[in-house]
Amino acid sequence: MQFIDTHTHVYGPEFDLDRPAAVQRALDAGVGMLLLPNVDASTIAPMLQMHEQYPDCTSVMMGLQPEEVQGDYKQVLGSMERELERGIYVGVGEVGLDFYWDRTFEKEQLDAFEIQLGWAKQLGLPLSIHCRNAFDHMVGLLEKHQDGDLKGVMHCFTGTKEEAHAYLDLGFHLGLGGVLTYKNCSVKDFLPEIPLDRIVLETDAPYLSPVPHRGKRNEPAFLVDTARKIAEFYDISLEKMAETTTSNAKKLFKC
Ligand SMILES: [Zn+2]
Repeated sequence: MQFIDTHTHVYGPEFDLDRPAAVQRALDAGVGMLLLPNVDASTIAPMLQMHEQYPDCTSVMMGLQPEEVQGDYKQVLGSMERELERGIYVGVGEVGLDFYWDRTFEKEQLDAFEIQLGWAKQLGLPLSIHCRNAFDHMVGLLEKHQDGDLKGVMHCFTGTKEEAHAYLDLGFHLGLGGVLTYKNCSVKDFLPEIPLDRIVLETDAPYLSPVPHRGKRNEPAFLVDTARKIAEFYDISLEKMAETTTSNAKKLFKC
């Protein structure tokens, strides 16, 4: 049984003391591929370093996370675009819109996201999209740029049934993580009507640990706890869950 963690920041400082052990626990749990999304200019080096250390079980993405978009974003994007030219990246991420804490850089976030949507189209790469408190803007931009080639994952999807269908209609996949194991998460109520071939699994480690690890640091091995819960909602075996979501992720990210 093999799983793919399609969104994990295991290259971050939270894992500096036990990264090899965390990778080993992931492999032992059957999580054989870790997709590493970039965050900002400072995370590129540690991310690439981890990828060099574990070339067989990690793949990297390039992008500027929306909460990190500031006045200098054009310069940052310029260097990321050059980085993308190396051709080692399996996706553009994590990118998107986040108007949860503040909207100081709303205009800049919208522009940065559109620029990065352009990269994804130009390079034929899937997106790993972060969206918080920005559904209308998000759908508007995806509609504007969807010419049949745009594809990717709505990372850490926790929205409503209508939002889920809007993203599916736009050709996107839903990235499901630890939140699905929380009692108050309403996604599980309509999950069975989301086609199985449109979901992928993720941890978003070190954040959002699934039950029974809630409140602790998340890590890729815990993906299996989320998978088990989601398999229950679909009333399928864990094996089938692994097989389907791994195949979805492989098709999308060619990893
Ligand atoms: Zn993330």
